[in-house]
Amino acid sequence: MELRTIKSIPILDVAERFGLKIRGWSAHCFAHQPDRNPSLRFNIKKNTFCCYVCPQVGGSVIDLVMQVLNIPFHEALEYLCGKGETERRERKRAPHGPIIGMDSLEKGAATRERNEILQSLLSETPLEKEGISYLTGRGIHMDIARKMGVGFLRPEDYRNLFWRMSRRFGHSRLKAAGLTRFYLFAKEGLSFLLFPYRLEGRVHAIKGRCLLTKAEAKERGVSRFVMTERAQIFYNQEIMKTTRDLYLCEGEIDTLTLLQEGYPTVGIPGTGSFKESWFDLFMGKRVVLCLDSDPAGCEASAYLAEEFSKRGIAHLKLDLPSGKDVNECYLDATLLHVKEGDCCSTMNRRKPF
Ligand SMILES: [Zn+2]
Repeated sequence: MELRTIKSIPILDVAERFGLKIRGWSAHCFAHQPDRNPSLRFNIKKNTFCCYVCPQVGGSVIDLVMQVLNIPFHEALEYLCGKGETERRERKRAPHGPIIGMDSLEKGAATRERNEILQSLLSETPLEKEGISYLTGRGIHMDIARKMGVGFLRPEDYRNLFWRMSRRFGHSRLKAAGLTRFYLFAKEGLSFLLFPYRLEGRVHAIKGRCLLTKAEAKERGVSRFVMTERAQIFYNQEIMKTTRDLYLCEGEIDTLTLLQEGYPTVGIPGTGSFKESWFDLFMGKRVVLCLDSDPAGCEASAYLAEEFSKRGIAHLKLDLPSGKDVNECYLDATLLHVKEGDCCSTMNRRKPF
């Protein structure tokens, strides 16, 4: 690509990809903090930028890449050229949906690469005070949270971590691994917990969960959950190999709640995300449905019960008070300890084992 062509790659697009929140033609400076009034200005005509505070910050789109990622000129060119090519490929591919003709070798390599990137993210996002206090508030013990590798990230750390990882892996690979999706939280100034979805020693996806309540999220019009990609596995799916009796609940907090009480549990990533192929995993098992007792959860429960019946999979439904989930009941201490012998006392026995 000619230098002139590279220099004309729209600077706002590149800036946005770095996670800069652009309002009009301004953004908060990436080089100095705090920057209460956005000091970074973009000149769209000239395709340049500058910071009114930092004398060394500014220049062309190439300078932007060099300064944000702290890399030399030739690497910035590679970054911009490489990304240009990736984008063209993506655009070309878009009408046809997912990549066609990808052989299993490439798929294996993609899984390995995604695992490496997600592991790397988790290694830099240890559970900290704020995340711990949220989990503790939900009655989750730290030993189970640590065992399940729950992480935590503040919005101000996201940008920095993302840049560092961009340098190591390249932006397009981070994007392919779904990491750019967490920008949704960062731009809203929200801290979030990271729940790794692991199987066979690999991290397949990470669910991010901000600390807002359902009502707060609704009021602000933000999503409480962001996942690196549509989940292909259950949360804690690994446990399915080793147990016949299985508790099936919604999401990660409920899974952790039941796990710490000694129940072999897997979590559905979300009620609308149950994949047809997942039913095979339940063959020969005895399942306790512990979905939320809200309209979506009840509907999902009814659907799963019907499908389990069709397939001859033994199941029970945990009868939770209206509108509650497992964790809320646990906190209210309304969920009696369900043990093998006395399950009838706390469960609606719909389908006997
Ligand atoms: Zn600055």
